Amino acid sequence: QGGATVSITVVGASGDLAKKKIFPALFALFYEDWLPEHFTVFGYARSKMSDEELRNMISLTLTCRIDQRENCSDKMEKFLKRCFYQSGQYNSEEGFSELDKKLKEKEKFNAKTSHQAGKVPNRLFYLSIPPNIFVDVVRSASRTASSQDGWTRFIVEKPFGRDSGSSGELTRSLKKYLAEEQIFRIDHYLGKELVENLSVLRFSNLVFEPLWSRNYIRNVQLIFSEDFGTEGRGGYFDNYGIIRDIMQNHLLQILALFAMETPVSLDAEDIRNEKVKVLRSMRQLRLEDVVVGQYKGHSKSGKTYPAYVDDPTVPSGSITPTFAAAALFIDNARWDGVPFLMKAGKALHTRRAEIRVQFRRVPGNLYRRNVVGTDLDKATNELVLRVQPDEAIYLKINNKVPGLGMRLDSSNLNLLYSERYRREIPDAYERLLLDAIEGERRLFIRSDELDAAWAIFTPVLKQLEEKRVAPELYPYGSRGPVGAHYLAANYNVRWGDISNDEN
Ligand code: NAP
Repeated sequence: QGGATVSITVVGASGDLAKKKIFPALFALFYEDWLPEHFTVFGYARSKMSDEELRNMISLTLTCRIDQRENCSDKMEKFLKRCFYQSGQYNSEEGFSELDKKLKEKEKFNAKTSHQAGKVPNRLFYLSIPPNIFVDVVRSASRTASSQDGWTRFIVEKPFGRDSGSSGELTRSLKKYLAEEQIFRIDHYLGKELVENLSVLRFSNLVFEPLWSRNYIRNVQLIFSEDFGTEGRGGYFDNYGIIRDIMQNHLLQILALFAMETPVSLDAEDIRNEKVKVLRSMRQLRLEDVVVGQYKGHSKSGKTYPAYVDDPTVPSGSITPTFAAAALFIDNARWDGVPFLMKAGKALHTRRAEIRVQFRRVPGNLYRRNVVGTDLDKATNELVLRVQPDEAIYLKINNKVPGLGMRLDSSNLNLLYSERYRREIPDAYERLLLDAIEGERRLFIRSDELDAAWAIFTPVLKQLEEKRVAPELYPYGSRGPVGAHYLAANYNVRWGDISNDEN
């Protein structure tokens, strides 16, 4: 990976995300030789820690993948030697000046030992901190710890505000100190293998793109479910709710990639231009097209499952939705009238994220009498991209049941990743960190994209809060509120269900 040098500073290094995702992703990149030859990793937070203590902390969460077992401990040791720590306040220019001094020392050392002298030192800051201190850090770090000759980039992670107003305010504040091209807004769903593959599937196969419109597609479903609740971490969540936490960002990003027109090229700006266009063609979501729910406690087989409001970090009487379903529409020539249904929830019966494309009926189907069961609706083709767990792509087709006579059933043409590709799939954070280092912006959100995304959801979020719409309660571990089925039925849609998929 060339001779450039990069320093990666994880701000909020003592936190959960840093330990669970960022340091392990950096190590995985190092293991595979994806990082530049000369790199340094710094942790920055208020907690007091020595370099050695940071290394001990990180080492507890580093792992080698099955195909990376060779020299694993040796590689870990080498990686840890390049990790350092600086303690400081988040709004403190002194703290970041100290960091700057240490970064310069490492950069000088790297320049001396570099085989390609003359390469400029670059700096990447990962803000793994609560959003209320983003601007403090950017102000202090950009003033005192920016690279003098190379680039300086900042990765920020949601939440990007709570609505159009606060998101716009955050963007304006960040842009006081940074240019747009220095800001890398991460949506880690865009780094997921199946989401990246969505465009490959569409644009490099002849058989899908010609069908990708209102002419052949009846509806599209974007489904996210978790089989656990907030489990003591509801404090952050309660201020946002599931619509802001999952729909406005992760599911909407997938929708934009799914529905965009063919970009001029794979260049980041060309792709992001198409995503913005499709987001701007979307109708604002209406209150009557949303169902909200919240999980309640219940007991099953002697085990008790808590309600959302039993979480001690959640204010009592909270009406924050832990579940939502919504029907969205794109008013352009390709998608006019096609419902895009989203469903997201916590404490449901299963854990999954998937995209389901239900195709129209075959007109004048010669075999309509031979389909097992009489429900012709079920006999239509459906394409499923399972983002997690067990990545897979499958297409439901009608097929003749072998034997005499003529009976048709629905079977799957199935591409199960674990069978086809015998390697572990890199974590989304690995791809995104590497892209940020390489300056590849395709998978990061541009500010006009963010504005367009908030414009769709802000009015309904305001109405839900102003009218204090009570969420429909659903038992922990269930399929969610029945209202979601009525919402889909309004548009002649039946939610696709994993349990009917023979997978
Ligand atoms: P966290 O553990 O709550 O916080 C990270 C670090 O920030 C802490 O170790 C603490 O370090 C400092 N900090 C915490 N609360 C603070 C406060 N009120 N004022 C100043 N500093 C504070 O957060 P996280 O779970 O790692 O997540 C980091 C960011 O990523 C958040 O913005 C979160 O929304 C986002 N995110 C997290 C996840 C996840 O899986 N955890 C997923 C998606 C997005 P010191 O006390 O040592 O300074």
